Amino acid sequence: MREIPLFEKELESTCIQELSDSYGANRLYMKRDDTVPFSFGGNKARKAAEFYREIRKTDTDIVMTYGSNSSNHCRIIANMAASMGLGCHIISPQENVTVLNNTRLVRDFGAVIETCPVSCVAKTIESRIQAYRDQGKRPYFIEGGGHGNPGTEAYRKVYREIEAYESGQNIRFDYIFHASGTGATQAGLVCGQLLSGEQDRQIIGISIAREEERGRGVVRDSIRQYLDEQFETLYREEKLIFTDAYRCGGYGRYTKEVEETIDFVMQREGIPMDTTYVGKAFHGMLAYLKENQIRDRKILFIHTGGGPLFFDRLSASCL
Ligand SMILES: *Cc1c(COP(=O)(O)O)cnc(C)c1O
Repeated sequence: MREIPLFEKELESTCIQELSDSYGANRLYMKRDDTVPFSFGGNKARKAAEFYREIRKTDTDIVMTYGSNSSNHCRIIANMAASMGLGCHIISPQENVTVLNNTRLVRDFGAVIETCPVSCVAKTIESRIQAYRDQGKRPYFIEGGGHGNPGTEAYRKVYREIEAYESGQNIRFDYIFHASGTGATQAGLVCGQLLSGEQDRQIIGISIAREEERGRGVVRDSIRQYLDEQFETLYREEKLIFTDAYRCGGYGRYTKEVEETIDFVMQREGIPMDTTYVGKAFHGMLAYLKENQIRDRKILFIHTGGGPLFFDRLSASCL
């Protein structure tokens, strides 16, 4: 397998910039994880960098994962496999039929895409892994969304980047907001906070799909898995804030107000955001700040990427 030189050392910190508009009565900053320099950026690229380290320790010849073939996760795993000269096999729910830029990219990176009914996913994964083993191949399986300890580790590191920025700039963020989906991003940030001993600030995951109970449960499980025996002593339930108030009815759905926020940020800041994750969460954050009457605080929003999704909306709109 081939090296990806970028992933051989730790990724460089992404930039944190102050936004020009106050969006109410706070000072807003954005961490530009959309600029991670691999496969059009984003949090899945950060997670992939951690999975890369694990894969390099093995003699894997094919990377397997699960997810919608239009997802950022599948695109980045397919990209990583192509860069490493490894095969890539993606198992995708057949209920998902939308063809997006990510779908085309997954195909163009040469991944095998296998669809099956969502109810058969676990069985299909298992039998496919076995079939490869029977052929003498050595598959490496990555959970959907880049879930699991390597994914959590990626955002624990981001938490450290944020702390380093704060001490360098002599500022402190009272809140950190981000789009929360499968939960590894949030789990990593919360683990970073729990392990640092810092207790005051709030990390708020804006759900882009899941309802609160399930979403929170999955993040908590990831935290438990990562902290392992330290979980009992370090974990505090009130540090896990996951809100489903801005999910607009579920994955991929959004309102006209979300679009208006995206258009405003595009013109005012020159920063593109997609409707599925980042724009929806940014809009949710503004609503949360307003509804909770949060004022005079320093707020950090993490732009978690999703560039190809941005272009889906762009090419769908006409002049
Ligand atoms: C996957 C994704 C998220 C959510 O991250 P999770 O770790 O799954 O919660 C947020 N933003 C973008 C652009 C994503 O692709």
